[in-house]
This record gives sequence, C-alpha cells and structure tokens, in this order.
Amino acid sequence: MIVVKVGGSAGIDYDAVCADLAALWQGGQRFVLVHGGSGETNRVAEALGHPPRFVTSPSGYTSRFTDRETLEIFEMVYCGKMNKGIVERLQRLSVNAVGLSGLDGRIFEGRHKDSVRAVENGKVKVLRGDHTGTVERVNADLVNLLLNAGYLPVLTPPAASYEGVAINVDGDRAAAALAVALGADALLLLSNVPGLLRAYPDEGSLIPAIPANDVESYLEFAQDRMKKKVLGAAEAVQGGVRRVIFGDARAGEPISAALAGAGTVVS
Ligand code: ADP
Repeated sequence: MIVVKVGGSAGIDYDAVCADLAALWQGGQRFVLVHGGSGETNRVAEALGHPPRFVTSPSGYTSRFTDRETLEIFEMVYCGKMNKGIVERLQRLSVNAVGLSGLDGRIFEGRHKDSVRAVENGKVKVLRGDHTGTVERVNADLVNLLLNAGYLPVLTPPAASYEGVAINVDGDRAAAALAVALGADALLLLSNVPGLLRAYPDEGSLIPAIPANDVESYLEFAQDRMKKKVLGAAEAVQGGVRRVIFGDARAGEPISAALAGAGTVVS
C-alpha cells in the first residue's frame, strides 16, 4: 500500500496524477491519495475579500493563519472543489474513489492550537483565534474499511480536534502520519518541483537521495513550506515507512516516475 500526497501549488497536473493513479490501481496496486489546495484557496480567499495571511514562526516555519472565516473558505476549496474534482477525475477513469476530509470519521485527529507565535516586523507576536493543529492520531480502521471494500480513499485536511472542532493541518505531515498508521510501503510527496533542491530554485541542484537516518540535516536546504515536507519525510521513516519520495507532479506519469526513483528518494 502506497500513500500519495499531491500538493496544491500552481503547475500541478491533476489529470496526469489521476491517469497514472488509475492505471496503477487497475493493475492491482493499492493507494490512498491525500491532496492539498493552497493555491486555489488563496485565489478564492482573495475573490471573497478575505485575503490569505501567512505567518512565520520564530523557528522559520510558515503557515496560514486560519481564523474561522478562513477555515470556512479552506473547507469550500479543499473538501469541495479540490476533493470532488479529484474524485470526479478518478470516477471518469472507472476508479471508485471516495473523497473524505480528516473530519469525517476523525480520519485525522489532533490538538487544536488556538494561538500562534509569529514574527512580524522583527518582533514576536502572539496571534489568537487560529484554527490549526498537528495530526496526532489517524483512524486507520476507517481507511482500511474503504480499501478492503475496493474503494480508493481521497483524503484532505482539515482534521478534527479532540473536541471535534475543524483544524487546518499540514497535508504533508498528515500524509506522513497516515503512511505510518497504515504501515505503508512508501510515501510519495508530489509537488511542483523536481524534488528537494540544494539551491532552490535551481532545478539542476536536485538532491537525488537522502539517507533515512539523516533526514533532519537536509532541513537546511528547504525554505518555507518545503520544510514541512522534509519534516514529514523524517516522521514517516522514523515511523517505519521504508521509502519517502519527493516527486514532480507537473507532467507525465508522476507516480510511476517517483516509484522508479525520479526525484529525491529518502530510504
Ligand atoms: P505543495 O502545496 O505542492 O505541497 P508547497 O508549496 O507547500 O507544495 O511546497 C513546495 C514549494 O517549496 C516549492 O514550490 C518551492 O517553491 C518551495 N521550496 C523551498 N525550498 C525548496 C527546496 N530546497 N527545494 C524544492 N522546493 C523548495
């Protein structure tokens, strides 16, 4: 069983991802797909007059500040347009996909973090009213129920807090937690870059391989949101996933290519 996470940044070719996924699924390989939607959420949020606000923590991680209105826009895009768009593509390819968010059946569960420390104009501020968190538990039973009945689960943030409140969680780290909980053979983190680049944005500086016992030392090459992917990869391999691959989802057969070793392979 393989967990594929496809991002939500500009340039990702969802038709290519779904066509490749359908062909491999029909060949008998089992998958769970996790997806993002950040690019489209930014566009819709602007259009609705509630533009996105990104904050950077003192340790350098960037995240979306998710007030209640942002959370609702986030759900419209991730659980609505993105999730149903992917499920529809797969259904057209005769794959019986079921799209669920982490709230449904508490597939992704974690602690609600109401405040975030953010660096603004060189000062550290505490911002309250955030609906974010980190996935700490996965309802693997529900995902296995779907897989064993022949459905392809298509999963997306938000997660459920322990109190049942929707929380925005990082999709890469959610996919890593899922891969660990399911005992997946591999985790593919597909985005709009060839893999982890030593000198971003120079695509010629691709790092082809990272040893599983040394993932964290590669954090220094990752800027902003790429850091979460490297962190997710570290969590997955530490949790027993044998292979994590950062792959390119912009064209071609992105899943087959990543499984064949294109991109950055953590093992
Ligand atoms: P997605 O939404 O597809 O999951 P993100 O936008 O969260 O992807 O993260 C991927 C982005 O990280 C790339 O588009 C790139 O702009 C950025 N990035 C930062 N540092 C690096 C790096 N060292 N190698 C590759 N990409 C990087």
